[in-house]
Amino acid sequence: MHDLGLDLMGALHGEKAFIGPEHVVVDITNRCNTNCIACWTYSPLLRDKAAPVSWKRQEIPGDAAHRLMDDLAVLGTRRVRFTGGGDPILHPQFYSLIRRIKSRGMRALVTTNMIKADTEKFAEAGIDEITASLWASNPTTYSRLHPNQGPATFSRITRVLEELRQTARPPVMTLANVINRMNFHEMEEMYEYAIDLGVHAVYFTLVDPVQGATEGLMLTDEERHFGLQAIERIQARQKSLGESAPLLDNVGEFTGRLSNQEATNGFYDAGRIDELPCTIGWNFCRILADGDVVPCCRAVMLPLGNIIERPFKEIWFALKYNEFREKALKLKKDDPYFEEVQCYRMCDNLMHNRQFADRLDGLGDPGRGALQTRLRGYLDAAKEPPPEPGTVAEKGSLPPPDRDGSEPPAREEGAA
Ligand code: SF4
Repeated sequence: MHDLGLDLMGALHGEKAFIGPEHVVVDITNRCNTNCIACWTYSPLLRDKAAPVSWKRQEIPGDAAHRLMDDLAVLGTRRVRFTGGGDPILHPQFYSLIRRIKSRGMRALVTTNMIKADTEKFAEAGIDEITASLWASNPTTYSRLHPNQGPATFSRITRVLEELRQTARPPVMTLANVINRMNFHEMEEMYEYAIDLGVHAVYFTLVDPVQGATEGLMLTDEERHFGLQAIERIQARQKSLGESAPLLDNVGEFTGRLSNQEATNGFYDAGRIDELPCTIGWNFCRILADGDVVPCCRAVMLPLGNIIERPFKEIWFALKYNEFREKALKLKKDDPYFEEVQCYRMCDNLMHNRQFADRLDGLGDPGRGALQTRLRGYLDAAKEPPPEPGTVAEKGSLPPPDRDGSEPPAREEGAA
């Protein structure tokens, strides 16, 4: 079971982790069966910037992937999401891995294009959440955005989503839409499609372009303005439906990006990133199809170890990971360390950092004091000096390490 106080305590320390990541995203395969128009690796617009064939064949071997699930469960991970470079369902052991996650008491989530989705296999494996990445509300738009798929694929996916809703234990379903110049005009129809399907939520995000290849898909100022108005109309529709309405997942980040004046250049989160401490190193990580462990969704060029070579636990608690945690927490993201991450373009983990900050704020002074006391206890037991001032405390989220910790220990798990 994940102890929610321990990840907060790690941020208080400023470098170390005291428990494994709560959420883990695993790119189990880079193989894919479609070519979404804005895909970073398979879009037909990429031409010479497309990923090499050797990359497209990468896949975490089944035994290593199963072992990883066991290791994560021991470290306290609560949610494992299969997503990433290719379509997870194409991994030959996809359903077996879902069963392994479930048997270890974690939640199993997948982000998929749904082309190979099978209602019975999903139901039998006990998948908890499915994010269907469709980018369209109808067969015509769908096939324009997935040039190697015909309209019939959309109809089949619709049927599978309807079937999944009828299963004995329906998964939580979200429709994901990457908004770009080819589909921004039908955001309201996407929401109506979600209503018709009876899914749990709709997720909108803006296209993150590949420089020199897919910039033409970015919205103009006028189109972003249209998008903001569409969201207002969708929210009015949502309100009119009451509790049965699909949620708008993470809509605040989406409208924030639509409103950002720098969005036309693809720097959607410039001006917002440095306002929030980056605490992603304490509750999240991503594992790529070649086994590399990277600390956030964007940090694919910042590997901190490889699970084929070393157990995940060793990587997660190593000095190299501590270095990332400290730098992500303390440094502005224009520091050269983050050059390859390009945080200002779009931080896909902004909501995680925001949730973490909210949990810290929610502790209040007594909870923070108790956490401080708990940290001292850990450091005393390990005979380590307390951390230097200058961690998350100085960013206003937690008290400094020498603050009086005499309050009685609180159950910070509940407060978090
Ligand atoms: S993109 Fe940058 S700010 Fe966002 S989680 Fe990664 S390192 Fe932190």
